[in-house]
Parts: sequence; C-alpha cells; structure tokens
Amino acid sequence: MSQTIAFIGLGNMGGGMAANLLKNGFAVRAFDLSDDALAKAEAAGAVRCASAAEAVAQADAVVSMLPAGSHVESVYTGEIFDAAQPGALFLDCSTIDVATARRVEEAAQAKGFEMVDAPVSGGIAAAAGGTLTFMVGGSDAAFGRAKPILAAMGKAVIHAGGAGNGQAAKICNNMLLGATMVATCESFAMAKKLGLDPQTFYDISSVSSGQSWSMTSYCPVPGVGPQSPSDNGYQGGFAVGLMLKDLKLATQAAASVNASVPMGNAAEALYQLLANRGEAARDFSLMIELLEGK
Ligand code: NAD
Repeated sequence: MSQTIAFIGLGNMGGGMAANLLKNGFAVRAFDLSDDALAKAEAAGAVRCASAAEAVAQADAVVSMLPAGSHVESVYTGEIFDAAQPGALFLDCSTIDVATARRVEEAAQAKGFEMVDAPVSGGIAAAAGGTLTFMVGGSDAAFGRAKPILAAMGKAVIHAGGAGNGQAAKICNNMLLGATMVATCESFAMAKKLGLDPQTFYDISSVSSGQSWSMTSYCPVPGVGPQSPSDNGYQGGFAVGLMLKDLKLATQAAASVNASVPMGNAAEALYQLLANRGEAARDFSLMIELLEGK
C-alpha cells in the first residue's frame, strides 16, 4: 500500500517537492497557511487539509518545508507531536539553526517518534525537477526510513551523522559558497581594473588553482562561462536574502562553538550591504556589482 505523507509548508520549494512525492506514488495530505499554496498543491493531486494536525493525523510520515526554526518548533511542538499516529516518521527539510533542529529532534524522541533534519542543496528549479541534494541528520534507523521518501524528491540523499548534522553540513557548505562567490567577484572586478579581459581571466583561472563552482558553474560576469543568472539580469537563481539567511545561521552557529570564521563573517557583512541596497530578491552573484562599485 502506498505511504501517506503529510506535507507542511508548500511554498516555492515545498510545492515542487510535494508534486514529486505525488508523481512517485505517495499520497499527500497538504497544509499551508497560504490559500494560494494549498490550491496549487490540490491541483497537483494532494488532499487539502485545514490544519497541520488534520494533515498529520492519518499520515505515515510528515515532511515540513518552512521558513525558519521558530516555525518548525512551533508547528511540531504545538500540533504535530500531539496529532501524529504512533510510529510516524518526521522529516524537516527547512533550513534552520542547528540548535533548534537538535532540540525539536530530542523532543520528538521523547514522545517516541523518529525524526531527521534533511535540508537541501538546490533551489526552486531543483525542487520542481526532483533533483535536490538532501543532507540528513539523525539515527541510522531514522535515516533508513527517510531515504526512500527523500529519494522521491531528489538526486542524492547523504547521511551526515546524528541529529542536527544535516543543518551543520548545509550551513558550512553555504558559508563556503558565500565566501567563494565574494572572492570570485572581487577577483573579476580587480582583473578588469588591471586591464584584463573577463573572458581571458575566466579561460585562465577556470583551469588554474583559483577555480571554484562559483566561477565555472555560476560565473557572476554576464556572457562568461555557462548560462547562469548573471546572463538574465541576476533574476532567478539563489536570492541574496536566502544567502544572507544562511550566512547568519552559519555565523551564529560558529559563535556558539567558538569557531573562527573570518571569511564567513565578511561574506555576511557584504551580503547584508547588498540586501540593504534593496537587492534581497535578486541572485547572489549580483555581489559583483557591489564590488565593482556600481
Ligand atoms: P516560502 O516562503 O516560499 O515557503 C514557505 C511556506 O511555509 C509558505 O507557503 C508559508 O505560507 C508556509 N508556512 C509558514 N508558516 C507556516 C505554518 N505555521 N504552517 C504551515 N505553513 C506555514 O519559502 P521557500 O523558498 O519554499 O523556502 C522554504 C525553506 O527552504 C526555507 O527554510 C529556505 O531557507 C529553504 N531553502 C530555500 C531555497 C530556495 O531557493 N527558495 C533553497 C534551499 C533551501
């Protein structure tokens, strides 16, 4: 018999993810605070529910894709723990702080449930296309149960260790991405001022030791490298506001364990500047315009 999944939070990411569960034979019971999101989920084949409690009451597993830790904690502790069937598995795919992820997973365990944190790499297109990468924290047993559900929504499902380690992997990865994007942008901006053609610099650096994903898969200079948001006026892609959110999570986590993250701190300050210029919705490779002094 097919498994029933309660899906909580069907926004930009969750909407596509729920549609992929449906395509892969899962039944989906949907709840979101937004009517619009619920209508889209219903059109994709989900059952529309009036509350999180109603959605989870008849579900084998719960997947959540919510904005932040406060939403996750209040939905699980306020509704899901009390309404879920015994033995239901919980999968939180939101990007949230490590401490909240660990606290909610501990609370789930205390109530006799298994839970994983399973944040994703990949944006809205990957969510819609079922090509996300999931970084999963939780016990071996919980991971084993979560894997087939996550595999229906992604191309890779990786066990990162115990509770909260999925979130740890996600924020460390995105801090690295933020820092390499800033470094790539400042290098292109400086190369230009020194009279070096951006395409020529790309041809050299992309096969030299300065190469990174930010350069060769997501070049911030329009017309250079493979197609990327820079070729589309920095629309779509990964928003400045979301990069800033992840950098804040990363630097807060760093402070909580006394880790020195000078590059992460610098990237956070620079993305804050970009957001303060009203650019939170545009792609994060727009950093090049800030560093070019535009
Ligand atoms: P979104 O704002 O589009 O969707 C969040 C949804 O949650 C909204 O539809 C909102 O109505 C709903 N919601 C909020 N509180 C709720 C509650 N109490 N009960 C039920 N529904 C509630 O955000 P998104 O872009 O889909 O991002 C979701 C998560 O995925 C975030 O944690 C984000 O950091 C992470 N993420 C996003 C991207 C991206 O490119 N958008 C990429 C990777 C990870």
